[in-house]
Amino acid sequence: MNVLLCGIAGHMGREVLASSLDPSARVTVAAGVDRAVPADVTLPVFTSFDKVEGSFDCIIDFSHHSLTGELTRFAVSHSIPLVVATTGQTEEERRMIGEAALSVPVFFAANFSIGVALLCSLAKKTAAVLKDAECEIVEIHHDRKLDAPSGTALAVAESIREARPESVIVCGRSGHAQRGSDEIGISSVRIGNVVGTHEVLIGTKYETITLKHEAHDRALFAEGALAAAEFLAGKAPGLYSMKDLVEL
Ligand code: NAD
Repeated sequence: MNVLLCGIAGHMGREVLASSLDPSARVTVAAGVDRAVPADVTLPVFTSFDKVEGSFDCIIDFSHHSLTGELTRFAVSHSIPLVVATTGQTEEERRMIGEAALSVPVFFAANFSIGVALLCSLAKKTAAVLKDAECEIVEIHHDRKLDAPSGTALAVAESIREARPESVIVCGRSGHAQRGSDEIGISSVRIGNVVGTHEVLIGTKYETITLKHEAHDRALFAEGALAAAEFLAGKAPGLYSMKDLVEL
């Protein structure tokens, strides 16, 4: 499967390129699009979509959301499935992605970790089965991280809310009030150089289930994006997400 990699010169573009060079990889990066043409990349790199030559089975995008218009127009006009891993889109750019999905299969996710997608799915299932259990999330990240709670902790909490729509998310509990039975608590720890750890505790009076995900390397996002590209092969137009990748 030949892929056009948008953002090939960036941190994540390089991770995708490195993962695709693994002997076990089933996806080949055939060319890239980037405003910067890296001297050490021997593949064709085009500085804009109107210069792209060649035929591709999929586009993977790890670039900048301001490229959304060009990216979706190119995918639709050439009928190429699209994996959008770039984040930070405006409402209008999200609308463009949704519109593109009417013509070609589009995989769009803010977090391409297959492990995090499984964590969300398992947390939702556990919270649905253990209806009265209390749910708490503890997330740990390096001391340079600016946002709290992490987007991933919120995504896990939202997955639990799909099973329990009446529940409320409570971040950084403090004070003297007892925990409400409808709460999903999130606690954020910032320390050292931790890449990202998310622990979901789901407990009753008699037992506690702990689901834990630890990220070791950004390469996991590249691996997820390559899996998404393979997943799109032969799919009908539509908007797909990590949920589709991990649901059996
Ligand atoms: P980066 O800045 O290192 O790389 C972005 C690349 O895109 C650069 O090479 C840059 O030259 C290129 N680019 C930017 N604007 C361009 C334009 N107008 N035309 C052509 N090329 C352009 O960033 P990164 O860390 O590689 O992350 C890229 C994107 O992926 C970000 O939006 C980031 O949030 C997102 N990301 C998503 C996930 C996920 O799991 N979904 C994981 C990591 C990063």
